[in-house]
This record gives sequence, C-alpha cells and structure tokens, in this order.
Amino acid sequence: MKTVGIVGAGQMGAGIAHVCALAGIKVLIHDVSNEQIESGLATISGNLARQVSSEKITDAERQTALKKLVAAADMEALGAADFVIEAATEKEEVKRAIYKKLCPVLNPQAILATNTSSISITRLASATDRPENFLGVHFMNPVPLMQLVELVRGIATSDSTFQAARDLCDRLGKETSVSEDFPAFIVNRLLIPMINEAIYVLYEGVSTVSGIDKAMKLGANHPMGPLQLADFIGLDTCLSIMQVLHDGLADTKYRPCPLLVKYVEAGWLGRKSGKGFYDYSGDEPVATR
Ligand code: NAD
Repeated sequence: MKTVGIVGAGQMGAGIAHVCALAGIKVLIHDVSNEQIESGLATISGNLARQVSSEKITDAERQTALKKLVAAADMEALGAADFVIEAATEKEEVKRAIYKKLCPVLNPQAILATNTSSISITRLASATDRPENFLGVHFMNPVPLMQLVELVRGIATSDSTFQAARDLCDRLGKETSVSEDFPAFIVNRLLIPMINEAIYVLYEGVSTVSGIDKAMKLGANHPMGPLQLADFIGLDTCLSIMQVLHDGLADTKYRPCPLLVKYVEAGWLGRKSGKGFYDYSGDEPVATR
C-alpha cells in the first residue's frame, strides 16, 4: 500500500492522516473546502511538533511525515489512492453523498473504509459500488495516542479487504479488535452505557459528580471518572450513541438518561462548550452538581 486517501480533515481525519504519514505512507487529504483542508494540516503540524517536544518522535521524522501529506482539493485526486478512509461528519446522508461522488473516481481495486462510530457498515456499503471492498475501520480519539482500531466487516466484506485493513493497522502500529456489524461495535457499546448509568446515579441523587468520578477512579482503577470522560467525549456524542443503541437494539436498558438529554438541550456539551458535568471557565474544572 503506497497511498491512503482521507475524506474529512476534522478531528479524526487529521489524526488518521497523522499516523499514516508518520508510518511513511503518502496521504491525500480531502475536505469540503481548502480552508478545512488547511485547518486539518495545521492541526497535524501542531501535533507533530508537540510529539517532537515530548521526544516521542525526532524532528527528522516530523519533517519526513509533513512531506507525505498532500492536499486534495478535488475529490478526483483521490483516484490515486489504494485505500480511502472516509472520516466525514457522522451523518448518513453526508456519507452517502460522498460515496456517490467518490466511487466513480476510485480505482476499481481500491478499498473504501469508513471511520463511522455508529452507522451500519452493511448499510453504508450498499451505497457504494464495492460492498466487498468496503469495511469499517474505527479509530479511537485521539488517534496518535490510542492504540486500538476496531475492524468491522459488512455482510459482503471480502477476506482480502479485511486483511488489507489489518495490514494497514499493523503498519500504523495499532492493535485491532474485530467486531461484527452491530450498533456501536465493542468499545462504545460498553463504555457509553456505563457513562449513561453514571448520569443516572447522579440524576437519582445517589452521589455527586466528584463522588461518582472518585469512586470509579479509585474503586475500579479507571484513569478518568465516567462524568469527566463524558465531558471529554462530548455529551451530544454520548447521547447520539445511546440513541443508536436504543433504536438499533430496541431494548429499554439503553434508554438515555433524562439528565443527559437536558444537558444537551441546554448546550452543555462538555469540554468543547466550556461546561458539562464540570465547568471549565476557570483554571481548574469545577464539578457542577
Ligand atoms: P469533525 O466534525 O471533526 O470532522 C468532520 C469533517 O468532515 C469536517 O472537517 C467536515 O468539513 C468534513 N466533511 C463534511 N462533509 C464532507 C464532505 N461532503 N466531503 C468531505 N469532507 C466533509 O468530526 P470527527 O470527530 O472527526 O468525526 C469524523 C468521523 O469519525 C465520524 O464518522 C465519527 O463518528 C467518527 N469518529 C469520531 C470519534 C470522536 O471521538 N470524535 C471517534 C471515532 C470515530
């Protein structure tokens, strides 16, 4: 594999491009506008520089990686890629529209993968001209730091496509876990209901924000408390994953906690909005309940 294409230069697309470039793979980066591409490239450049400061990589490695990154203003440029990873906005209609435009310009042998966190791989595959060359490669955020990638087969994914994805992950130094195509795969299926339950514990008055987080850090050895983690992930994302589980598995055990719904309606989305279960306006986060 010589060239990877990335569609969507946001948080995840930039992270995936970063690790591919560091692994010596040429990366073509596409997004809706030149500004979005430039912003993704600036993020990667900043993150590579941070890795040099913390002595994770050398300055020579940073410079070599930067040379591997190529802006692809037109989708046609992705025709040169062997493996394209779509990391665009988590909306099915957005992804479908991308595949409609992208498939005709791709090499017929090229593999197309999606980084979706929640949409059915089989359903997305049906919107392409290559369901056998399509699969889910679910990188974790932040990509340069997290070791795992979940590999998800659609019903039609071929063995050779699956192996090519596994080989790419090996080359990126990532570990893989294989998941069947069920809502939220493995990590989010386990993690997000735990966070939702922590919000129920708060909602029912069993404990406070700091009481819950301290309990899980010291009592279950979690590196972060569940409410701190919820703020980091984004409460809107947590809610949408609970809704996917609730709708997709039709089991009331996945009902989103009303307090989570209320926070999202208030625009209290966690770190990114400055307030969630903690208030981030001061020097240190302060628990809000
Ligand atoms: P983001 O909002 O940071 O980035 C999405 C990017 O897609 C934006 O730059 C946007 O301009 C671009 N985009 C939208 N429409 C496009 C189009 N038609 N053509 C090209 N680019 C387009 O989102 P993100 O957090 O990077 O998430 C991207 C994907 O990764 C989603 O499918 C999400 O579910 C998945 N994911 C996210 C996380 C996470 O923690 N954020 C973790 C794992 C997987």
